[in-house]
Order: sequence, then C-alpha cells, then structure tokens
Amino acid sequence: MQRAAWQRREFLAGLGIAAGVGLEVAKTALAAPSGSPGKGQRIIRTVLRDIEPREVFGATLIHEHLGLGRRPGEQSGDAPPASPTEDASWMETELKAAKTAGVGCIVSAQTGVPGPAVLPYLTRLSEQCGLHLINAAAYYTKQTYPAELAAQTEDQIADGLVQAATAGRVGALGEFGVANGESEMDPIEKKVFRAAGKAHLRTGLPIFTHNNYSTGPNVPAEMALYQLDEFESAGVRPESIALGHVCCHYDPKVDVAKRLAKRGAFVAFDRVTRQQQWVSDEHRVAMVLAFLDAGYIDKLLISSDYIGRVNTNVGEVNGYPGPLHARDGGPGYARPLKLFVPLLRKAGVKDKAIAHITQENPRRFLSFVPKRG
Ligand SMILES: [Zn+2]
Ligand SMILES: [Zn+2]
Repeated sequence: MQRAAWQRREFLAGLGIAAGVGLEVAKTALAAPSGSPGKGQRIIRTVLRDIEPREVFGATLIHEHLGLGRRPGEQSGDAPPASPTEDASWMETELKAAKTAGVGCIVSAQTGVPGPAVLPYLTRLSEQCGLHLINAAAYYTKQTYPAELAAQTEDQIADGLVQAATAGRVGALGEFGVANGESEMDPIEKKVFRAAGKAHLRTGLPIFTHNNYSTGPNVPAEMALYQLDEFESAGVRPESIALGHVCCHYDPKVDVAKRLAKRGAFVAFDRVTRQQQWVSDEHRVAMVLAFLDAGYIDKLLISSDYIGRVNTNVGEVNGYPGPLHARDGGPGYARPLKLFVPLLRKAGVKDKAIAHITQENPRRFLSFVPKRG
C-alpha cells in the first residue's frame, strides 16, 4: 500500500493548508463581513450572498439532497409529507445538528431546475441553522428531462440553465446524469452535458454529475470518463468538474478515479455510507487509500447523497444499524463525518489529510470567478 509514501505527501500537502484546519464547528454568523469579494476574485455562491472561500468553516458536503420546501398541499392537514425533506421544521433540526457535528456548508443537489419555492426555503434554512447552503440546477437523466429539451439546441438548453441559475442564486450545476443500466450516454444526454458546459462557460459555475455505476451489467467502468469527454468537448476545464458516484464503482486499483484526476477533474466519493449493497464502505476506504497513494489528495471530494432516509427503491438497507436521523441520535446529514471519517482515521489517514479532503478541496471545487451569463 506504500502508506509511508503517501503519508509524507499528505504531510507536505498539509503544510500548504491555510490556518484553522481542525474540524472546527462553524463559529461565525453568516452575516457579510465589511466589504464584499472584489471583481475578478474567486467566490462561493451561497443562497444568501457571494462569499470568500475562507469564510467557510468546517466540512463542505458537495452532494446532498435538502428537498424542495414543503409542498403547498401539505401545509395543512395531518398527512405527513411524502419525504421528510419537504418539511422545513424537520430539516432545521437535522441541519442544526449537522453544523454541531462540524459541517459548515452543504450543496443542495437538484435533479431539475429549482422552482420558485426552493430559494426561499434554502434561505430560511441557512439563516435558521447558521449553515452556508448552495442551491443547484440540473437536468438529471433522459427519463426525467422536460419534453421541450428534445427539440432545443445546446445553446437554448444553456439559456434555460443560465436563467434558472440567475433566478435561483444557483452556486453549482448538478446533478447531470446518465440513465440506470445504460452502456453509453444517450445522444440527448450528450446534448444536455454540452449545454451544461456552455452554461458553465457563461457563468463560471462548477459542475457535478451522477454516474450510473452498479446499476446493471452493461455500465462500463469508463462512464465517468465519457462524461468528462462531453464537458471537455464543450470547452470546460476539468478543474471545474466533479464526476459523481465514483465510489459506487467497484475498482480495487482505482483506475477510473486516477484517470479522472490525472486529467485534472475532481473525483466525488459522494455516496459514502450509502448504497453499500453495491460497494461497501470498507472497500471505499481501501479505494481512498490507493487514490491517496497515487498522489491525488487534491482531487478527492466526500459526501453521502443523503435524502433524509435510505433509498429502499434501489435495495438499500441502513448499513449502520441505529437511528438515521440526528433528532433520534443518528448521524443525520453529518453521515460522512460521523460514520466514514472515523473509518479513514482507523485506516491511518491523518487529521491534516482529512481536513484537506473535507474542507479545502470542496472550497476549491466550488469557488469560481463569476461571469455575467
Ligand atoms: Zn445521483
Ligand atoms: Zn443525488
């Protein structure tokens, strides 16, 4: 495993980290400091305002699902919402607990362009919980695309994404995906990916994806590389892209992750603790060690794709017996910190490296120089 070699590397990398690298709990209010980020400066776009990356304390989770706000029809009556994430009061309890556990910022991944209720909902959650929250926008997979995308050009789809990004104070574009079980990207998915690339070129917004790993025997190992190909063909630099769900691809030699990182892209292990019926966390830890051994500590992102419950539709069982939700004593949205990071520590990954992966890397991925659109 050449552990000694990578430990030296992570130590050297750790020296380059800004001060305050501990897994500290956010201790500042979200109010703007005196003076806003200047023109041409890299910012992170939260639902409240554009912030400097150093304003984020604690871990940043780049792919979780925070819901869309409670649906109007469910505001009254005794019927529970279809998903707990549709209940803002429920979410407040869970997100306050995530902050206490060391999370400072969460990207609310979307599978469509967010409707008008989403920004006020996330704004309320951010203000009430003291967490930086980032809104997102995307088109998920071909089955979920709005019908009009079929006739639209790449530029027209990009127009729609840019407009949605402006209206929703979107800070990242994602999750863009490929349908379950497919061996290659569908032509319309390629069109949407290139449109997302064009929207990125007009706004500067980072992009993250959904890969269909482990959803059928035909899915090739190279799927994430195909996704990167489409973005690069649209002119996107890999440094602005995170390829998602790579931790759902069983790959002892982390061949795919290394090829992505070598090209400059971020590799998202963004389903840790989840969907272990496909790849166990034990194997994911081994993959992380091999990835670090290869010298790619700067390219790893960790998140859990949590939706407030386990996704039994895909055969998932709770791999960590005990309550799920923070209100019941479970890990809640801090799953990556409370469940997966201890496994990394046990495997010998040092605190400086963990801070680099959970704090510094996502801030770098999410920061960009805004363009007008
Ligand atoms: Zn996904
Ligand atoms: Zn997701």
